[in-house]
Amino acid sequence: MSRPYDVLVIGGGVSGMNAAIAAARKGVDVILLEAGDHIGGQLLTADNGNYYVTNEQVGPENYYDADPAVLKEVLGNLPGPALQTWLEEIGLALKSDDGRICPASEQAVDVRDALRLQLNSRFVRVETYQKVISINKTEDGLFEVVGIKATFYAKKVVLAAGSKSLETGMDGSGCRLAEELGMEVKKPLPALTSLRLFASCSGDWDGVSCDGEIRLFVNGDKVCASTGSLQFSASGVSGTPAMNVSRYVSRALDEGKEVKAELSFLPGMTVDEAFEFLMKRFERVKDYLAREYLIGLIPKKLARSLIRQAGIRHSKPIHYLREEDVRRLAEVMTALPAEVTGHGNFRQAQVCTGGVVTSEVVPETLESRKVPGLYLAGELLDVDGMCGGYNLQWAFSSGYTAGASAVESLERGEKNE
Ligand SMILES: Cc1cc2nc3c(=O)[nH]c(=O)nc-3n(C[C@H](O)[C@H](O)[C@H](O)COP(=O)(O)OP(=O)(O)OC[C@H]3O[C@@H](n4cnc5c(N)ncnc54)[C@H](O)[C@@H]3O)c2cc1C
Repeated sequence: MSRPYDVLVIGGGVSGMNAAIAAARKGVDVILLEAGDHIGGQLLTADNGNYYVTNEQVGPENYYDADPAVLKEVLGNLPGPALQTWLEEIGLALKSDDGRICPASEQAVDVRDALRLQLNSRFVRVETYQKVISINKTEDGLFEVVGIKATFYAKKVVLAAGSKSLETGMDGSGCRLAEELGMEVKKPLPALTSLRLFASCSGDWDGVSCDGEIRLFVNGDKVCASTGSLQFSASGVSGTPAMNVSRYVSRALDEGKEVKAELSFLPGMTVDEAFEFLMKRFERVKDYLAREYLIGLIPKKLARSLIRQAGIRHSKPIHYLREEDVRRLAEVMTALPAEVTGHGNFRQAQVCTGGVVTSEVVPETLESRKVPGLYLAGELLDVDGMCGGYNLQWAFSSGYTAGASAVESLERGEKNE
């Protein structure tokens, strides 16, 4: 048997790199195994200029339905401000874009490079092309980690192999390794992605961008709503609201449930408020034609489509409209029904929902309850956040928690029993 490492990290994405750095900073011997030909994981698939590493406001409320105790502990171990300070200390200049924090250079690859330089300066051994195919325990309580090119031994292991992302060639092998060790895994599905959506007039909206709200209903029950900029295509919708509700869509459709949506183009207004608003506007625009009623409020293409949808002729002078016409327009503008028929695939998703369920880990340390000495981090766990830097914050905080906790356990002389 070769010399055992103190800590062995599986996966070279943000969570794995940060786990390795957190462990190495405590002076122990660390190795990181990465399946691909380079480290960085999903970091390297992002568009430059649009990559947020954290947010000025981070808390459990920015994540979907993961265990709040796990979120509170893990985010508390490396909170947003501490992460920003640390990234700047290792040389990565940051800036705020409306509360979302990104590299000042707007280059996602710079985040990877800052972490890679830290791995080098902390003497972490990095092995690429080393996909891990099994994790076993030896009789003396060590881990035997079998990679495709070699077998390694370690006192503690951090599993940070991400979820399923076809973009990076990841096939969900991290979840498979966890399942083989007896852990419960919720089926990974795409999240933070676009929606395929059909409303009676949505064929007219190709290329339209505007502010709006999507309210989502599964089997008739409202499950969530999100507001922001919507971008329509011939077959669906993308933009922050679509991305934020997509995790519920992928899960519900996978379970064979019916998914419907209501679209509002006057976000925040009820039908009655919209009616009042349009009646006030009536006075100002009554000399125009119906197709000009919504001028300056929403894009022309959308306005014409919604006016038609409300059963109003485009060429009708506005002063001929009756109150019931205006009310129908208010309804169409605030609660337009749509059917949600699909979502973007793994290649088009920014994150996965699902993974190893958080009840499998100890909230304070992220140590597996079933496999003492094994720690889990990153997107492999069933934690997904909203748009705006929350998924990377989770990757950084959970990596830090796992790596530092592994070393603290070593320092206490715990034997993985
Ligand atoms: C296009 C895009 C844009 C995004 N933009 C943002 C954003 O702006 N803000 C934000 O917060 N989040 C964003 N995200 C999400 C964020 O990048 C991820 O949540 C985060 O990087 C996950 O890190 P991770 O280390 O857990 O997993 P990953 O980055 O997926 O890394 C896992 C690593 O493990 C390796 N691996 C897998 N299996 C094995 C194995 N068996 N053996 C060895 N190695 C293995 C993989 O090759 C991979 O390198 C974006 C994602 C994408 C795809």
